[in-house]
Amino acid sequence: MYRILIILISLAVSSRVQAQQNRAIEFPDVPGYYTLACDLHMHTVFSDGSVWPNIRVQEAHRDGLDAIAITDHLEYQPHRHDIPNPDRNRAFDVAVNSNGDHPLIVIPGSEITRSMPPGHANAIFITDANALVAPVGEEAIDAREVFEEVARQGGFAFWNHPAWTSQRSDGVAVLENMHRELIDADLLHGIEVVNQFTYSDEALEIALANNLAIIGTSDIHGLVDWDFEVAQGGHRPVTLVLAEERTAEGIHEGLRARRTIAWHRNTLIGRESEIVPLINASITVAGAEFRGGTSILEVQLENHSDARFILRNTSEWTFHEDIDILEVSPHTTTTFSLKTLEQETPYLISFEVMNAITAPNTHPEITLTVTTND
Ligand SMILES: [Zn+2]
Ligand SMILES: [Zn+2]
Repeated sequence: MYRILIILISLAVSSRVQAQQNRAIEFPDVPGYYTLACDLHMHTVFSDGSVWPNIRVQEAHRDGLDAIAITDHLEYQPHRHDIPNPDRNRAFDVAVNSNGDHPLIVIPGSEITRSMPPGHANAIFITDANALVAPVGEEAIDAREVFEEVARQGGFAFWNHPAWTSQRSDGVAVLENMHRELIDADLLHGIEVVNQFTYSDEALEIALANNLAIIGTSDIHGLVDWDFEVAQGGHRPVTLVLAEERTAEGIHEGLRARRTIAWHRNTLIGRESEIVPLINASITVAGAEFRGGTSILEVQLENHSDARFILRNTSEWTFHEDIDILEVSPHTTTTFSLKTLEQETPYLISFEVMNAITAPNTHPEITLTVTTND
């Protein structure tokens, strides 16, 4: 009796440990592309963060990320009396060294830290962060010239937290003339629609209207585990980049081609051209059969992703058990039953995907083709 109790307790403990360890951010690849989870905005003690760069690397390993960019502030150096930081490439170099042979891709980056406009922007894939900032005590470089230097270095620039309340007290992102000019000159290529804890409808509209990459980032300063409550099932926001190859160049090309999806809380945010293939790769039909002697079809859906999909039935059939909303938990098989009314197979079952958006208040639709096993 006691032995059984001990076994039961140890099973319960080990399954809890497993749940805690299964923190990797996982989405399936889509036809033609790898789906790479990237966090392209984070801080260390080399600006106003609280950790050494190796901790950012270790957090990324634990989260199963494919790529990170450490983007310390160029113009904001509150720790400079303790860490003078004369070489702005140093945080990247420390991160690369601590990464060792791990497949995590570490991308060089910096945060251009200006008042609005242009506000803050990340420059990634740069070759020398030192060229983006004036030496201490000297007059700041004109903001536009910094973006031009990023372009000379072949870098990719995106607008950070455009709805940040320290620069927009109403929390509404507004595209100003300087942003328009940067976009027109191909000096600004993306925008954070998700930053840390916040999402911006207006930023998504700006992204869609100006063909900018849709970006989601953690902007982590402290610890990912604490800020995003990973032990309670939370995760940091990331950008899923659809890349032709699992390399830094592949990610850069994917960003330039705007093949991105932001993953925030339980929501996917992106263009239909990326989001629909990702949902179709995430939810597949594992099987379907009629309940003995009836025309009620039981359909098994397999979810290969971290998303808890919330699907609203828009097909011509009604469900037998669920109302019109179906929840498909991450990494499980979910069964629902459909009243087919003896129509012929295959059944094209359409759903509105409520936990994904392609524009403010706009959810994508998917269609599952279901055929019976017999
Ligand atoms: Zn910032
Ligand atoms: Zn930041």
